Amino acid sequence: MEHAQVLSALGFDQADLSGGTLSVRSPIDGAEVARVVETRSDQVAKVIERSGDAFSAWRTVPAPRRGELVRLLGEELRAAKDELGALVTLEAGKITSEGLGEVQEMIDICDFAVGLSRQLYGLTIASERPGHKMSETWHPLGPCGVITAFNFPVAVWSWNAALALVCGNPVIWKPSEKTPLTALACKKVFEKAVARFGDDAPEGLMQVIIGGADIGEALVTSRDVPILSATGSTRMGGIVGPKVAARWGRPILELGGNNAMIVAPSADIEMAVRAIVFSAVGTAGQRCTSLRRLIVHKSIKEDLVAKLVKAYSSLPIGDPRKEGTLIGPLVDARSLDAMQSALASAAAEGGKVHGGDIVTEGVPGGAYAAPALVEMPGQTETVRTETFAPILYVMEYEDLEEAIDMQNGVPQGLSSCIFTLNMREAETFLSATGSDCGIANVNIGPSGAEIGGAFGGEKETGGGRESGSDAWKGYMRRQTSTVNYSAELPLAQGVKFDI
Ligand code: NAD
Repeated sequence: MEHAQVLSALGFDQADLSGGTLSVRSPIDGAEVARVVETRSDQVAKVIERSGDAFSAWRTVPAPRRGELVRLLGEELRAAKDELGALVTLEAGKITSEGLGEVQEMIDICDFAVGLSRQLYGLTIASERPGHKMSETWHPLGPCGVITAFNFPVAVWSWNAALALVCGNPVIWKPSEKTPLTALACKKVFEKAVARFGDDAPEGLMQVIIGGADIGEALVTSRDVPILSATGSTRMGGIVGPKVAARWGRPILELGGNNAMIVAPSADIEMAVRAIVFSAVGTAGQRCTSLRRLIVHKSIKEDLVAKLVKAYSSLPIGDPRKEGTLIGPLVDARSLDAMQSALASAAAEGGKVHGGDIVTEGVPGGAYAAPALVEMPGQTETVRTETFAPILYVMEYEDLEEAIDMQNGVPQGLSSCIFTLNMREAETFLSATGSDCGIANVNIGPSGAEIGGAFGGEKETGGGRESGSDAWKGYMRRQTSTVNYSAELPLAQGVKFDI
């Protein structure tokens, strides 16, 4: 589909796409596809106030009924999957199947949240006092601000929104300034679900604000936004996290990664090659979980590098809408510059670079590059830095302890994996002395997580968790209650205080 067709299929009209100050360019060809109206800073206070009003009403709607809205959202997403996937391709440059996969992830989290809406379980706890009952209950917390990155323009919103909504919280979404159209399209889809749901969905339950860091900042600093989920670079998290903490808000930070794979001598090499290529070059290396470091046993390094160089040489690069393309564009020229400068630094540190050239032939404009493999003498400063592009640094190790030290020896802690058929190595990697990341896999690459597990990472990745497992608890407040149904007033720990 051409740009105009995609936008019209999602119900955008000229008024949505013109007259604003925010220029939206497609990474596919660099063409401007819209000029979107930005939210003014002075309008954000009103948005937050509306969200507070929505909270007063929404928290009283029973959770399973709130789940019904999310069920309808899932249905609307199913109906809009092709168009929304195509818009992700248009605005973020993902290949068609990855654009569709991102929408599928939204559908999956809606399904998960619908079930969750009947399972927001608390605990009953044994009291040490006779005639007493202790319990723990989960309550809605309030407006949830969601700031998202360009590279998962819709899925990350849905991870947050589906959970926040069933937990009883309204959502205010500030998408990346590079991908406002996908956010506006999701809002249209959401409104369809609300129209079918009925009157108990208050106005302002899901609002979108458009703009850059300054608009995000208004959410970050507001005491009326108790939960602030921010996804993006470590640089952004370093600013946002302390500001949210300073006003006693609850930050959920999902920041940069620098993900590694250890390939042990016993690994199934053919399987490892496939996993390496998908996770290092898929999405043109622009996933937070993209594979960036390969730590290979000395005895197999030469063979593995030769296989990878061969696999890299035949990867189809180009228009992400074309069937067969596996590597689409980088998001913009700045990303391409960052990639080239990281390659130059790695070479200056003693790296041997394979590939990585800028591609201008056979592409429709935009910023395209061949993925790069760089054999490094060690884990240098360049390797320790996340460059959001398809660069894979390869290093060698001799024993597993050294490999795990290298895997953990970076500031980020998102995703990690080991390829081995040796049970001792696999279990050591997953143990307390193994990977220090939020995600640790065996015989699977570091990217492409399912929604059922909690997603997020440690250290400079921010420590937040979203999506599955019990990540929902981050969107609620926990209340511990003790009820005394006896005629006595015993104090805990046997304290005596008779008057
Ligand atoms: P970015 O940090 O440039 O921007 C992310 C978002 O933060 C945007 O909406 C931006 O407007 C906003 N922002 C920036 N500064 C802000 C401030 N001071 N106050 C409030 N908002 C601010 O990131 P990007 O280039 O869009 O995305 C790529 C980065 O995101 C990579 O580092 C990647 O690893 C990371 N990422 C992490 C995850 C994860 O789940 N851990 C997921 C996707 C992307």
